[in-house]
Amino acid sequence: MSLRLHDTLTRRLQTVTPLEPGHVRLYTCGPTVWNRAHIGNFRTFLFEDVLRRWLERSFPRVTHVMNLTDVDDRLIHNATEHHQRLAEETAPWIEGFFADLDTLGIRRAHHYPRATGYIEEMVTLIERLEAKGVTYRSDGGIYFRIAGFPRYGRLSGIPAAGLVAGRSGRVDADDYTKEDARDFALWKTVGPDDIGWDTRLGRGRPGWHIECSAMSMALLGESLDIHCGGVDNIFPHHENEIAQSEAATGKPFVRIWCHGEHLTMNREKMAKRLGNFRTLPDLLAAGYRPAAIRYLLITGAHYRRTLDWDEAPLRAADEAVGRLTEFRDRVRSLGAGSGGEEIGARAAAAADAFARAMDDDLNVPEAVGHLFGAIRDLNRLLDAVTPSVAVRQQLIALVEEADAVLGVLPLVDRERAASALSPEDEELLARRVAVRAARDFAESDRIRAQLLERGIMVEDTAQGQRWKRA
Ligand code: AMP
Ligand code: ZN
Repeated sequence: MSLRLHDTLTRRLQTVTPLEPGHVRLYTCGPTVWNRAHIGNFRTFLFEDVLRRWLERSFPRVTHVMNLTDVDDRLIHNATEHHQRLAEETAPWIEGFFADLDTLGIRRAHHYPRATGYIEEMVTLIERLEAKGVTYRSDGGIYFRIAGFPRYGRLSGIPAAGLVAGRSGRVDADDYTKEDARDFALWKTVGPDDIGWDTRLGRGRPGWHIECSAMSMALLGESLDIHCGGVDNIFPHHENEIAQSEAATGKPFVRIWCHGEHLTMNREKMAKRLGNFRTLPDLLAAGYRPAAIRYLLITGAHYRRTLDWDEAPLRAADEAVGRLTEFRDRVRSLGAGSGGEEIGARAAAAADAFARAMDDDLNVPEAVGHLFGAIRDLNRLLDAVTPSVAVRQQLIALVEEADAVLGVLPLVDRERAASALSPEDEELLARRVAVRAARDFAESDRIRAQLLERGIMVEDTAQGQRWKRA
């Protein structure tokens, strides 16, 4: 079995064969840390997390780099308005980003380079491009001359002539003089009092695209295996990255370009500027569980299809997570029986089918279809037979292999641990049962109030005392 991914450049499925055998070098475009990322951003980061996890199952070594864009027009505007340095402006958003990654169980990249930490590398790269004659200077800064790079437009398929704005609507500010509307800024000149850097190129700040070329090459080399982002990154961002990187090095920049489709809301791209967005803290405040949110965003649609956000499927996602958790718990608590080879074979077949679907361009919806089909059959088979320890091991392997990708069980366990009772709470609950049995209701009410102060709500039902978190 080998993993194939759809490559945006060749528009074909390509087998992942790392340039350095056994070592996959992965670059994923990260957030602009100017406010709280929305769950559309996290759909992309989760698809990249699934890719990363599956690469780790398939290859001995993966190096994953995700940049943080911590300088751009909006950030500079906000920092100036708030009378603070850029680093002060971005710090809370960076913290929020990492908190959200952890909430969703997204594996940390090996490096999170910040654009402001790589100004020297960007300056050097721009100098290399100047030496190749594909740039020009004007009042506003230094521009890349698209006419100097004949392969321009191959990734996006957008004809080079008459290019305007990208799907993101995000183009470099056009208030500077350019020879051609298609050219883009590598370096923007700024005034002495503006936020910027004094460099060999003069006082200024980098354009957005040069950041990713400089940081990916600094950390992963001039050619890397897989480069990802959302589809709105294809043009102009990734098209420009190819032009800058390949014009400078003369080498192919990326082996496979992998892009995730958007999360939409009311059928429109989820975006801050359209106002149709949700953040993770919004959803948590509404009572949704991280495992369900993660599950829905990774299984709701194949990564190359849009997913329209809706809260109803979150309940179904929660149930699916519940079924997987129950199955895991059931398998763990199985006693040692004998036989059950049929059960082992069913589990092994499901694990195979799961892996084949993942290898086929990360077909997560199909993979979970195989998983839950098997869980249904296996639950039925386990009602009749307690299998041998060896078969039990095959069941555990199925759950572990699937969840190595899905990554929901650790989130469930974390939630369980957080809601487990402390020994003092256990003791109070037990005492309350005892005093009620002795019909000391005054004392039982006193303990109830005490528990409430500790954040635990007690309720008396026909089945006895129940508790939940207040
Ligand atoms: P940005 O901070 O705008 O550069 O976005 C960070 C990442 O989120 C990029 O890879 C974008 O392609 C991706 N992204 C932005 N909006 C959406 C969306 N509605 N659905 C999926 N991915 C998105
Ligand atoms: Zn990028």
